[in-house]
Amino acid sequence: MDTAVAPRPCLVQVQSCRQAYHKDASADLVVLDGVDLTLREGEIVALLGRSGSGKSTLLRIVSGLLRPTAGHVMWRGKKLDGPADGVAMVFQSCALFPWLSVQENVELGLEARGVARAEREKRAEAAIDLIGLGGFESAYPKELSGGMRQRVGLARALVVHPDLLLMDEPFSALDVLTAETLRTDLIDLWSDGKLPVKSVLMVTHNIEEAVLMCDRILVFASNPGRVASELKVPFPHPRNRLDPAFRQMVDDIYALMTRRPVPEPRATAAAPASPLAMPLQRVGTNIMSGLMETLAAEPYRGRADLPALAASLQYEVDELLPLGETLQLLRFAVLEEGDITLTETGRRFVQADTDERKRIFATALRAHVPLANMIRQVLDERWNHRASAVRFRDELEDHMSPDYAEDTLRTVVAWGRYAELFSYDEEAEQFSLEDIG
Ligand code: ADP
Ligand code: MG
Repeated sequence: MDTAVAPRPCLVQVQSCRQAYHKDASADLVVLDGVDLTLREGEIVALLGRSGSGKSTLLRIVSGLLRPTAGHVMWRGKKLDGPADGVAMVFQSCALFPWLSVQENVELGLEARGVARAEREKRAEAAIDLIGLGGFESAYPKELSGGMRQRVGLARALVVHPDLLLMDEPFSALDVLTAETLRTDLIDLWSDGKLPVKSVLMVTHNIEEAVLMCDRILVFASNPGRVASELKVPFPHPRNRLDPAFRQMVDDIYALMTRRPVPEPRATAAAPASPLAMPLQRVGTNIMSGLMETLAAEPYRGRADLPALAASLQYEVDELLPLGETLQLLRFAVLEEGDITLTETGRRFVQADTDERKRIFATALRAHVPLANMIRQVLDERWNHRASAVRFRDELEDHMSPDYAEDTLRTVVAWGRYAELFSYDEEAEQFSLEDIG
C-alpha cells in the first residue's frame, strides 16, 4: 500500500443511526443508538461485538435492507433509500438452492441483474475459480462440505463485483480448521488485489479473527449497540497469531470488552427495561462448573487472565467470553479488564457437593435470572403446578427476536433442570414441579 496523501473516497457513512423495534404500547426495544461509522475504499473493517449487540441489524441498515428508525446512511455520498446498488452480503450459513448446481447458484446473482447468459457463465466460472472451487461447477450443494458451501456463498456474492462486501459472521458455523483456511484464503486474495470488491465490512464476535483479517476494528458495545472504540491494526499481511504484538492486541481488546464490571441490561434504553429483556447465552452447567473448578485451583487460585486461561484450556479465546459473561450474570465470577475472578459464591460452589451445588445454583437463578424466577413463581401459584412454555416464549418475544427467545428459553430449561427449580416436558412443551422436592 502506498502512503497516498489524499484519503481514499468514502463508500459508506452511517450517521447517528438509531434502531428501535416497537414491541408493545409500553416499550420500544432500542437496539442501536447513536451509531456513526465511515468506511473508505480499500479497507477491510471488523465490527466486533457480543451476541445481541445489534451487529446484524447494523449490517442490514448499511445494505439498505432495513431503514433505520432515525439517522441515515450515505452511500457514495448520497442518502440511501432502499437496497444499495453494489453491495453483496454473505451470511453465517449461505442459503444455497439445493436443486441448483454450484454454477447455477453462483449465476443467480447475475441473472437478477439481467446479465446475458454467455457473460453470466464466464463470470461465474471466474468467481468459482477464484474462490478455489474450480472443478466443482456441476456439483450440487448436498455433495459439498460446509466449508465448500460457504465458498459457493462467497462466489455468489463476488460474482457481481460489488463495491462493498458485507459478511455476517461468515466463519462461525465452520469447524476451526476449515474456518482458518477460508480466512487465510480470503486475506491472500484481498492482499493480492484479486478480490473484485472495493472494501469489506465484516461482523464477528471473534477477537482473533478481527485482528487477523482487518485494517480497522470497531468495537461495538451493547444495550444499546453503538461503536464504543476504534482500533487500527498496524500489522502487515500475512499476520502471525503468535507474534507478541498480535497477542498483545488481542489482550487489549479483551480488556476493552470486559471493562465494565456488571453490565446493566438496557440501562440506557428509552423505556425502563423489562427484567425479561435479557437474552441468555447457551452455556451448559457442566462447562460452568468445570471453569469454576479450574479457576479455583492452582495456578489461578480464583483469578485468571482470560486469554491465558483460554490458552491453557485449549479454547478459542472467544468461546470463553460468553462463558465468563454467564458466570458474571449469575454472580459466580466478575470480569474486569480482561481478568476473570471467582466471587465468594463461586468459591462456595466449587467446594460444595452435588446437592449443595444445585441449591447454590437455584438461588443464583432466582436472584439474577428474572425469567427463571418468574417460571418458578407461576408454577408455585398454579393449583396443578404446570405452565406451558408458549406463554413465556411470547413474553420473551416482546423483548427480543424469535431466535434469541428460543435460545433463551432452551437455556433456562437446561439451567432450571440442573438446579431442580422446575421440570420440563419436551413433548408437551410444559414446565412443571413434578419430581421437584
Ligand atoms: P447481533 O447480530 O449482534 O447478535 P442482532 O442485530 O441480531 O444482534 O440483534 C440485536 C437485538 O435486536 C437482539 O436483542 C435481538 O433480539 C433484537 N432484534 C433483532 N431483530 C429483531 C426483530 N425483528 N424484532 C425484535 N427484536 C429484534
Ligand atoms: Mg448477528
